[in-house]
Amino acid sequence: MCNVSLNGTQPSDASLRVLRALEAAGLEAWYVGGWVRDALMGYPSHDVDMCCSGLWQESKAALEAAGIAVVESGIKFGGITAISDGERIEVTTYRLDGFYTDGRHPQSVERAASLEDDLARRDFTVNAMAWHPERGLVDRYDGQGDLERKLIRAVGDPKRRFNEDALRMLRAVRFACRLDFMIEPETKRALAECAPLLDAVARERVGIELEGILSTGHGGDAMLRYPELICASVPELAAGRGFDQRSVYHAFNVYEHIARVLTVAGELALCDGVAPSSSLMWAAFLHDVSKPECFTVDHAGSGHFYGHPELGAKKARVIMDRLALSHDLVRDVCLLIKYHDKPLRPERSCLLNMMRALSGEGVDTARLIDELMDLKRADTLGKAPSCFYYVETIEEMRALAHELLKAGEPYTLKMLAINGGDLIRAGVKPGPELGQLLNSALDAVIEDDIPNEREALLVHLNLN
Ligand code: ATP
Ligand code: MG
Repeated sequence: MCNVSLNGTQPSDASLRVLRALEAAGLEAWYVGGWVRDALMGYPSHDVDMCCSGLWQESKAALEAAGIAVVESGIKFGGITAISDGERIEVTTYRLDGFYTDGRHPQSVERAASLEDDLARRDFTVNAMAWHPERGLVDRYDGQGDLERKLIRAVGDPKRRFNEDALRMLRAVRFACRLDFMIEPETKRALAECAPLLDAVARERVGIELEGILSTGHGGDAMLRYPELICASVPELAAGRGFDQRSVYHAFNVYEHIARVLTVAGELALCDGVAPSSSLMWAAFLHDVSKPECFTVDHAGSGHFYGHPELGAKKARVIMDRLALSHDLVRDVCLLIKYHDKPLRPERSCLLNMMRALSGEGVDTARLIDELMDLKRADTLGKAPSCFYYVETIEEMRALAHELLKAGEPYTLKMLAINGGDLIRAGVKPGPELGQLLNSALDAVIEDDIPNEREALLVHLNLN
């Protein structure tokens, strides 16, 4: 039993068993970091992190003596994972070092003498609290106060902390977005100033943090509040800052437009109470990344961006590959960007052709057509109010797309009522002609409403 509760939150029995096993061996152990923060905020069941006075070998021996399985998950940094009743609990030696991720520091740990030293090395005040069921809360940096004030504040001098590890800047933004906190002014200033340090961080880690930011659905806020850092993460976005679109359809410059689109796209998911889709968030984030380089002005002085979706899709691939994002995610995002601005009408053939374009190996076309409508909706609402009427058409198109999907209307060769074998049996020689004929059969079903039936298609192809 615990005699000091944490805002009413009780730790799990499995994690308590780990703590007791460590202490039975004469070590000192604490709940720490995100679990304490989230428990104080009343958020349930966060992964448990513990820190412990023992070397990892001592912690491991103590846990195994109590019959708790151990995985040597991060021994380079003094960390092991205890598996207690199926729950994974990270146990880390009090450390003086080892959070650094920019490659400029030794990737090892020096052991700290005390819990206080360990907490001093943690990134933000709200993450630098420790709790023990009998000894209570240790909060040297007023993390509780910052939780109440809804602030992300660096522990110590923010510039020094960001110089030590530049990834912390993106962590700050991720926590601010996730918890709906502001970044405390001095920390925020340091973030703008130290943004170029992000260059030293492995792109893959930047990708993981950006994904974390976008997945909160509040990436648009991050873009508007912390533009230096966002542009340090994706330098290709910088050209859009302050870029006047010179168009009656646009009330905002390119960068602000992107931010607004990202905000609306995030809200669409959050309003539905679901996690925002990664592909939709990344597509919104990068959909106009090529606008500045496609800019032209016509004789009337109006700006145009011909070709920006195609070029944007190519650029998004380069950016996302650099950030080591998954192949499937990149594929879906590039499709959404490529087609985000393609004129579309609420007509059967128009929508089937769009679904045809949004199909391919491994692509979930039903999901993607919905996300394309989300992106178009968000894109529209990020323009000038005179464009907002188009939202109704988008919703009409969405409804029609759902109907077509439900009716099983074909939009890929595989969905046709005939296949290559049928054509060969009807006398067509194997070779490229087969593909051409199947494509023209699909054209006929989509464009001319020829029924998707074997006989009708063979008649249409003059093969009966
Ligand atoms: P979540 O897991 O929900 O994203 P968390 O706070 O648990 O949030 P982790 O990345 O799991 O975050 O890290 C656990 C703890 O380790 C943090 O709360 C923080 O105290 C510390 N920490 C993690 N990364 C760093 C870092 N780069 N610099 C300083 N402290 C860090
Ligand atoms: Mg964690």
